[in-house]
Amino acid sequence: MPRTFVVIRWSVVVSLLGLLLLAGSDAPSLSSLRAAQQAAETQPDTVMVELPPPMSPSSSAEADWMQRLVLPRQSPRIANYTMEVTLDPKTNVISGWEELTWTNTSGQSLQEFPFHLYHNAWKNNRSTFAKEGGGDLGREKMTENDYGYTNVKSVKVAPVGAWPSEAAFDETDITGTFAYIQPDDDNKDDQTVCQVRTPKPVPDSLTVRFRVEFETKQPLPLSRTGARRTYHFVAQWFPKIGVWWKGGWNCHQFHRRTEFFADYGVYDVTITVPGAYVIGATGGRPKETKQSPDGTTTYRFSQGDVHDFAWTTSPDFIKVEKEFTHDAPDSNDVPGRHIPLKPVHVTILLQPHHAHLEERYWTATRNALRFFGEWYGEYPYDDLTVVDPANDSRSGGMEYPTLFTGGANAWTPGRVSQPEGVTVHEFGHQFWYGLVGNNEFEEAWLDEGFNTYSTDKVLHAGWKQKFVQSQRYLGGDGAGTTVGIPVAFEDIQPDRQEGNVSDLRNAGQHDVMARKGWEYWDTYRINSYGKPGLSLLTLERYLGEEMMYRVMRTYHHRYRFKHPTSQDFINTVNEVTGKDMTWFFQNTWYSSNVFDYRIADATSEPVKEAKGIFNFNGKPQGGKGAEEQRGKKMYETRVRVAREGEAIFPVEVQMVFENGEVVNERWDGRYRWAEYRYTKPSKLRSATVDPNHILVMDINSNNNSRVLREKDYRSRAAYRWASKWMFWLQHLMETIAFVA
Ligand SMILES: [Zn+2]
Repeated sequence: MPRTFVVIRWSVVVSLLGLLLLAGSDAPSLSSLRAAQQAAETQPDTVMVELPPPMSPSSSAEADWMQRLVLPRQSPRIANYTMEVTLDPKTNVISGWEELTWTNTSGQSLQEFPFHLYHNAWKNNRSTFAKEGGGDLGREKMTENDYGYTNVKSVKVAPVGAWPSEAAFDETDITGTFAYIQPDDDNKDDQTVCQVRTPKPVPDSLTVRFRVEFETKQPLPLSRTGARRTYHFVAQWFPKIGVWWKGGWNCHQFHRRTEFFADYGVYDVTITVPGAYVIGATGGRPKETKQSPDGTTTYRFSQGDVHDFAWTTSPDFIKVEKEFTHDAPDSNDVPGRHIPLKPVHVTILLQPHHAHLEERYWTATRNALRFFGEWYGEYPYDDLTVVDPANDSRSGGMEYPTLFTGGANAWTPGRVSQPEGVTVHEFGHQFWYGLVGNNEFEEAWLDEGFNTYSTDKVLHAGWKQKFVQSQRYLGGDGAGTTVGIPVAFEDIQPDRQEGNVSDLRNAGQHDVMARKGWEYWDTYRINSYGKPGLSLLTLERYLGEEMMYRVMRTYHHRYRFKHPTSQDFINTVNEVTGKDMTWFFQNTWYSSNVFDYRIADATSEPVKEAKGIFNFNGKPQGGKGAEEQRGKKMYETRVRVAREGEAIFPVEVQMVFENGEVVNERWDGRYRWAEYRYTKPSKLRSATVDPNHILVMDINSNNNSRVLREKDYRSRAAYRWASKWMFWLQHLMETIAFVA
């Protein structure tokens, strides 16, 4: 999903505009802010496309490392679904059956099988989903017809393949064993998980087939899925088995904040819709299409090695088809850096009033396919579908295997990253949630955080001109279909993940990041997106881009089609870097502490006139004579650097003297403060902690440096003032987001 979009209220808009006007009257202009910032900061501007070649022929260690990375060609295919369903556009009911062919890889016999029935989250206002939103499904007026559900009508089970006769049983109707269960809370009204029981235990390594008859009623779009006018977005819509994981069933209820977790398999899905409707689905191009005399059309889709299946249909879609190819290096590729990727057929389904956004969606998709593929491993599927969601469908900005939804306003200035940002982000999920199937309920950051980090890299690498900060006023429905008047702050090009720092400042201490998605206070956003995103960027700057590239590539290759955990990632970091980086994760992922290093004090004074008795050449001499012997004026410089936050990170402290001399000190950053003293012929000009801005998670970089020299005082002051102003503007925007 994208980050939550912001609804701005009139009163706040008026005061915000007031602030802008006020600020405009005597504040330094934003372009002067930028210039001052550029002059004052010594941060290197990181350009991702200029990564060095991953394999240098001179280094056999690197060649070995590359060789050991092999992408698995196929997933374990534990949960395989064949379905046949029909959409009735009058009632928004999808009815039919599914056959789940499931293999027991648990290492033990199992007799009870939990299934997700996600659509029951929208069945009433007592579901756990509704309760976690304050007893509200997020729409003010709802008629009975606006609710959604999945009804299981019957369940049968039969052994598949060769079974020992003592374990085998005939096909059995087990509908009578059906029961709703609540593994996460005691909310008996919640029907998002059910369970059935087989007549005999299913032994380890054997395969069983469940045949489930069901109907799913689409709700008025409440969250991610539903029917709006003639637009249908269909996700989390069929009974779906849980995952046997770490010695137990992992089948969580549908929570307000959490996403999903499922085993990989093959999906073969046949869908009947009205003949005039355009359809898009996981798997891309239909394998079969059949028109019926009753005016409906039946499409058969199939896709292997995915863990979910979503589809959309509407008579209004404009369908555009494109071919991604990557045989030849791009003109701006670094030589030796080109990794050829297989072609991908891309289908873009556009709303008619967004026809003009075709090229922007396509460019974003192409860049994402290219960079994610080159950096982490080839996108393995033949097809990819990009859906431009209908207005007020709340289905924008969401990811499903081989299909994702974007979102844009028809009125979108070119330098505002819409739909580019959401397109790259939702595509990025193909590589984390999709191909590296982490448990999103329990460790959402392994998807959203990794995606925040990698989306940001693609947005910096793929477009020559940087996108600018923007905000929409006087509107805003959210979830991708943002409306309102766009205001592009032409002078504000956010630094990488700058916005996440203000989130961290505001809410970083409310929760430890490593918690289950429904157990956070109010910090799902910062702990699933911003904080892990910033921590990976910090890690990249600390380890260096090439090392980070190896870490991420190794992790992706090793865990493709698996269910890795945070510890698997940390082990990969430690192994690839050859360092024990556990301390870093303890200070970030497993902590609510924040980083804030600052220059607490910096002075540089002429050495005091010598008084008293000094020894020179074994003879005592008066102070004045001693000064003459020394020959030149000296300055006593003292710099004190302090740790304001509880989190610990080694930092560099840089002193620049007026004669140009630069002294860099390494501080382990552990104790509350450290002091550096120098006696030098030149006065101190500036002192900076973390001058290369490695620690991007530092919640306040305004206190990271001190400038002493008089003639610089003005620009420095203007810069500092402007930074503060930006700080408060961000703070205000953040506050608005929380209020709304
Ligand atoms: Zn996301």
